[in-house]
Amino acid sequence: MVRYVYDFPEGRRDMADLLGGKGANLAEMTRLGLPVPPGFTVTTDACRAFLTTGAEPDGMLAEVSRHLSAVEDAAGRRLGQRDDPLLLSVRSGARFSMPGMMETVLDIGLNDDSVLGLAKASGSERFAWDSYRRLLQMFGSTVMGVDAALFERAMTTLKGMRHAPDDLHLDARDLAELVEAYKELIRDESGEYFPQSPAEQLRLAILAVFRSWNGDRARIYRRREHIPDDLGTAVTVQRMVFGNLGPDSGSGVAFTRDPATGRSGLYGDYLPNAQGEDVVAGIRNTVPLAELERLDPRSYEQLLAHMGTLERHYRDLCDIEFTIERGTLWMLQTRVGKRTAEAAFAIAAELADEGLVSADEALARVDGDGLARLMFPRFDASAAGEPLAHGIPASPGAAVGAAVFDSAEAVRRAAAGEKVVLVRQETTPDDLPGMIAAQAVLTSRGGKTSHAAVVARGMGKVCVCGAEELAVDTGARRFTTRGGTVVAEGTVVSVDGSDGAVHLGAVPLADSAVMRFLETGERSTGVVPAVVRALEHADAVRRLEVRANADTPEDARRARRFGAQGIGLCRTEHMFLGERRKLVEEMILARDGVERERALAALLPLQREDFTDILEAMDGLPVTIRLLDPPLHEFLPDRTELAVRVAAAEARGERPDPHEQALLEAVGRMHEENPMLGLRGVRLGLVIPGLVAMQVRAVAEAVVARTRAGGSPHAEIMVPLVGAVEELRIERAEVERVLAEVSEESGIAVRCPIGTMIELPRAALTAGRIAEEAEFFSFGTNDLTQTTWGFSRDDVEAEFFAAYLDKGVFLASPFETLDRDGVGRLVRIAVDEGRAARPGLTIGVCGEHGGDPDSVHFFHAAGLDYVSCSPFRVPVARLEAGRAAL
Ligand code: ADP
Ligand code: MG
Ligand code: MG
Repeated sequence: MVRYVYDFPEGRRDMADLLGGKGANLAEMTRLGLPVPPGFTVTTDACRAFLTTGAEPDGMLAEVSRHLSAVEDAAGRRLGQRDDPLLLSVRSGARFSMPGMMETVLDIGLNDDSVLGLAKASGSERFAWDSYRRLLQMFGSTVMGVDAALFERAMTTLKGMRHAPDDLHLDARDLAELVEAYKELIRDESGEYFPQSPAEQLRLAILAVFRSWNGDRARIYRRREHIPDDLGTAVTVQRMVFGNLGPDSGSGVAFTRDPATGRSGLYGDYLPNAQGEDVVAGIRNTVPLAELERLDPRSYEQLLAHMGTLERHYRDLCDIEFTIERGTLWMLQTRVGKRTAEAAFAIAAELADEGLVSADEALARVDGDGLARLMFPRFDASAAGEPLAHGIPASPGAAVGAAVFDSAEAVRRAAAGEKVVLVRQETTPDDLPGMIAAQAVLTSRGGKTSHAAVVARGMGKVCVCGAEELAVDTGARRFTTRGGTVVAEGTVVSVDGSDGAVHLGAVPLADSAVMRFLETGERSTGVVPAVVRALEHADAVRRLEVRANADTPEDARRARRFGAQGIGLCRTEHMFLGERRKLVEEMILARDGVERERALAALLPLQREDFTDILEAMDGLPVTIRLLDPPLHEFLPDRTELAVRVAAAEARGERPDPHEQALLEAVGRMHEENPMLGLRGVRLGLVIPGLVAMQVRAVAEAVVARTRAGGSPHAEIMVPLVGAVEELRIERAEVERVLAEVSEESGIAVRCPIGTMIELPRAALTAGRIAEEAEFFSFGTNDLTQTTWGFSRDDVEAEFFAAYLDKGVFLASPFETLDRDGVGRLVRIAVDEGRAARPGLTIGVCGEHGGDPDSVHFFHAAGLDYVSCSPFRVPVARLEAGRAAL
């Protein structure tokens, strides 16, 4: 029989699939003996059943009642009991943390009767009415669908009438009045009464939390974070503890280390006399956690001890939500905390130093995306000048953009290609689309644990929060600095998430320390030593080699500095551009063999020099040179432009330029409706006489030159777009003929492995045959994705991919992250059949996917020998190849 409910002591941290992260970690803390208010968790199974059928599964409610009875017995009070009610919180919590994206309802169990009992039992009327109005507010909006802003407005109006600067200045009578107003609001807006039955409140709240899995905020967040839509959320039901019971109570959030830099120490915010959601909402200003030491030293000491316990137990940075009820500390949540990339590297290195984690585990805790972020430039401090204001640096990086004051405007401008900075007093989950669209988020209120900070860090987005010197006027769309500078919407500002500074205008950027290390080997500053450690360990454990895609000596040298072990793709078409275009044109337009020979002969020395320089830069390492791939018309002028030019000349009565006419004629002759599926790759080599011979001769002569110069050249010749072994056989014979010719002429035996790209489904499906003629394979996963899915990679990405991502057809563009099921299956077939036909066949990948973390893990698992990616992604690929091997 399926179980739908687990008491805290029955769960464990590794049960997050079933209990959600929150439920699993509450269970873990309970087992550790930390003070957690008792409760139980309804499983994600129940949620999935509810979302599929629209009703809770049979037996779930009975189980909930049974487990509730146990909580009631332990508390010695019943849910909603008139004289002393037990109150509950009903909390969402999915497998992956989605902070603030789903719903939570607090103070379940209050009604018109029990609020009086609570007042008497607690000795505080104010507290009782405050709790009741909170319940109405949360229940009204979450469960009954009333616009949350209406409650806010009623509260603001009352505060205005009472001249109350914040909610603490409202007394019991005010709050009782508010309760009446809220009940009326609920009735008017939803057409229903607020349910007075506590059991009914509980049931409806659980179902509302289930439903919040499919709320807009949650869906947008999942898309952004690539979280599948079908996991569902668990629901945790827990006895309430009260931070709003007076000045000796309060709520807070804490980190065991600084989530921005990784430095150990106590970081967090505390809000006296408040329930937890006030802390993140930024309703009143929090105090730093250090203040708690003064306010309540005993709880502070306990908190410190619990945080130590948690960090040692999880062996990682933890974040924590806690509440103090009249001097008693309660732990309400913990999880392995989100952190910046810098903090991730720093913490991993430090925990390894402390012996808490092994070098392997330390490597597992950092990732390629984070490393890539650390390679981004930062602001050039010497050029920055006096900042407009300072806030709390909550998520690092440098961002420049036009100030905008609401989410919709951010989305609008970003869609038009403008870079924007979202400026808010504080953000709420409704600002999510704007945060995604913005380069940076800037708020005037809230600490490192505010919504803006937490969400931005999770996204790797620059964030400065709590810049209190700024008066943000959302209505007027501007902010004013303490010094009186007014910054209107559209004004460019620079936001430094590393030191919290906000500058007027665009501040120039300087290299990151990590980039400087990669370029120069300078390894002493900031996070660099931690990065070096991770990279060195990755290099020690990885099986995949990492090569680079590089077409120039400069790129080759950079790739080598970044740790590339060769070039996996040297595209030769780039060498045909610029001034050489003329020669290519002549080759294409040649009327006979003699003319063509002449054009090719002019290209030969230029290509030879290119290859010589690249082979020198990569001396001793393999350089895979791909023969010309793109359709030839790419080297010719645009057909329409040319036609217009010729026609205009004719109209002016000029004599037609014979060259232009010949060009126009050639362009017309070579025009293809689908050039990506047309005369390109190996097909070119087979139909244009002399082209392959010229390119191979250039390679071979470069090898000879480098050998004579005392170098150790390792050129490999790669044939693109092969679909049939016959194509490769013909091309191969030509390549071998030229290699033999040059060997003969030079007296130096030129030996270049000859291989092919696997970038057509037919190539993958006949890989066993193709391997007879190929000494190596290299997957061209861009074309392979294009031809497997039938997506034109030049057209589709912007257009319907957004809709496909939205509808969940895929979680990430298959051009970014390899589609394991389809394209990946072809890769596996080609690896298996290629190696079966030719044991020891070298196999790599040279598409964009070679630098994508998730894809690197797939290529490792598929047994490839190397990945090849752009020079800047080489460190990322090294790191991920190491992590894949753990
Ligand atoms: P989120 O996932 O959005 O953080 P939570 O379920 O953690 O939502 O609830 C939000 C806040 O409600 C918490 O930060 C906590 O302070 C408060 N809260 C939740 N459960 C309880 C409880 N049993 N007693 C007191 N406060 C609670
Ligand atoms: Mg929480
Ligand atoms: Mg290709």
